Amino acid sequence: VTVVKCGGAVPAEAVCADLAGRAGEVVLVHGGAPEIERLSGELGVASRTLVSPSGVTSRHTDPAMLDVVTLALTGRAKPRLLRALAGHGVPAVGLTGLDGGLLRARRKAAQRTVRDGRTVVVRDDHSGRVTGVRPRVLRVLLDAGFVPVVSPPATGEDGAPVNVDADRAAAAIAAALGAERLVLLTAAPGVLRDALDAASLLDRCALPREGPVPHAASGGMHRKLIAAREALLAGVPRVSVCDGRLPRPLTAALDGAGTTLE
Ligand code: ADP
Repeated sequence: VTVVKCGGAVPAEAVCADLAGRAGEVVLVHGGAPEIERLSGELGVASRTLVSPSGVTSRHTDPAMLDVVTLALTGRAKPRLLRALAGHGVPAVGLTGLDGGLLRARRKAAQRTVRDGRTVVVRDDHSGRVTGVRPRVLRVLLDAGFVPVVSPPATGEDGAPVNVDADRAAAAIAAALGAERLVLLTAAPGVLRDALDAASLLDRCALPREGPVPHAASGGMHRKLIAAREALLAGVPRVSVCDGRLPRPLTAALDGAGTTLE
């Protein structure tokens, strides 16, 4: 099994076309930052960012934003992928972490954030970390020849939805399934030594087992490298970050394009 995470800025059409003939072998995980931004604008829900004291940024998922995230992922991003997959004859089933107990997460009930130069505590954030995966629903679908199409939210400890990072969710799913590969497709050639220099692509990138990760010039790539490390530590043998904008992005990734994390 290969777990493929498709970033929001990746053209979905080419990824879906490239999944033709791979039903039953691939789990597709997606986020949808552009859809979330657009829908929050349409609904007039403020999109805000939390900045941890160590400088890591994340979406402030207050109750209104949790609804926007859920609506954008399940009502816009996922149907678009399902339609494109159907158009290429790929039988696919859309799920969130709420289905079949797939993704469990612990919400951060209180977290420190830096606002106007001061550290304050935020208590209305409904995001958290994946604490468990029950992959049975994925196995059932894979065995029946479907491509599961998975996104946040996850199921919180009290049963309520919790927003989680899709890259890290993909890593947890790959580990739980015993997947051979995790491919993170994004709108960059791979991991760049210098984020501003597209020619500085790293063929391989060694991640320290703990502590800060290298080459993470933005929150997005930082989260990907953290996810990659989590997958490697959990025993996924091959993890890569690849360009989702290539004509056949998954084929290219499986052939060794992009950056292999180790
Ligand atoms: P996605 O939506 O695919 O999950 P993000 O936009 O969150 O992806 O993160 C990927 C982005 O991170 C890239 O498009 C790029 O702009 C940025 N980035 C930051 N540092 C690097 C780096 N060292 N190499 C490549 N991309 C980087």
